[in-house]
Amino acid sequence: MCEKCEGNLWYVVPNHQHDILERIECLDCISVLQYNDDVKERITKIIVNASPQKLAQIVSEGVVNGVAKNDKESVEERFEQLIATKDINTILALATTYAGV
Ligand SMILES: [Zn+2]
Repeated sequence: MCEKCEGNLWYVVPNHQHDILERIECLDCISVLQYNDDVKERITKIIVNASPQKLAQIVSEGVVNGVAKNDKESVEERFEQLIATKDINTILALATTYAGV
C-alpha cells in the first residue's frame, strides 16, 4: 500500500501561505496505474492473435475456479442454469467480476 496516499490516489498537505489543506494527486500511484494500463494495451495486442477457443477456455477456467473458491455459492448452483439457457451475458459478467475488471 502506498504510504503517501494509502491507495486513495490523493493526499492532503497543509498550505501555510493560505492556511488551508490542499488536496494533491498522488503522482506515484497515478503513474503506476498509467504504466499498468499501457502494459494491458501491449499484452492485448499480443493476445488478440490467440485462438477464440484458447481464450474461451481461459475465461471458463477463470470463472469456474473463481466461483469454486467463493464459499457462498456452488459451481453447480451458479452454472447449471446459465449453461442450460446459454446465458452468455451473465457468464461474461461473472467472468468480468472474477477477473477483477
Ligand atoms: Zn499513492
